[in-house]
Amino acid sequence: MARYIGPVCRLCRAEGRKLFLKGDRCRSDKCPINKKRLPPGKAPKTRLGKKSEYAVQLREKQALKRNYGLMEQQFRNTFEKALGLPGKTGDNLIILLERRLDNVVYRLRFASSRAQARQLVNHGHIAVNGKRVNIASYLVRAGDVISVIGAAKKMESIRQALEEVQKSGVMPWLEVNADEMTGRFVTNPQRQDVTDIADIKEQLVVELYSK
Ligand code: SF4
Repeated sequence: MARYIGPVCRLCRAEGRKLFLKGDRCRSDKCPINKKRLPPGKAPKTRLGKKSEYAVQLREKQALKRNYGLMEQQFRNTFEKALGLPGKTGDNLIILLERRLDNVVYRLRFASSRAQARQLVNHGHIAVNGKRVNIASYLVRAGDVISVIGAAKKMESIRQALEEVQKSGVMPWLEVNADEMTGRFVTNPQRQDVTDIADIKEQLVVELYSK
């Protein structure tokens, strides 16, 4: 499966906002967004002026897609799925993104970034309801139990990531048992619960793809 392997801070600079692509390390003062660095590429100042409606919608889509670490086709497929569900397409899109197994593993603090979480899943270190699942896009359902399995339980990177549970807990739709390295996806989140992407206007993504 294709994935972006370039410098991730460049993606945040392109969007002009923090996307937390390095997970907990993004809280450091070294984050280039804190230093108000210009967007990457040639003549960045010429791209800082008033943007067209299309450019605004495109940037919003890129920000949301990059936040969850998806490539264009994966993101588009998720959007198509959201379109077929009852309710607001924008809300459905966010909920589907939140239900991805790699995202849930990250949210449960088994990994310090979504990229690291995806690697844990791809390498077969994660089980859902006791069964190994190595598909990052697997959609977790309300009530599912997600666990770290096998030798991964001894991985120092997971122990370190789980220390964050003590400091800031987990999102309200999740429960975690850090000692057992298990967690539960209690219920689907509501859009307003996903506070760390509160500034993303998913309606603009819907408008962009509806053209
Ligand atoms: Fe880099 Fe994280 Fe800052 Fe983004 S939020 S620019 S990934 S340090």
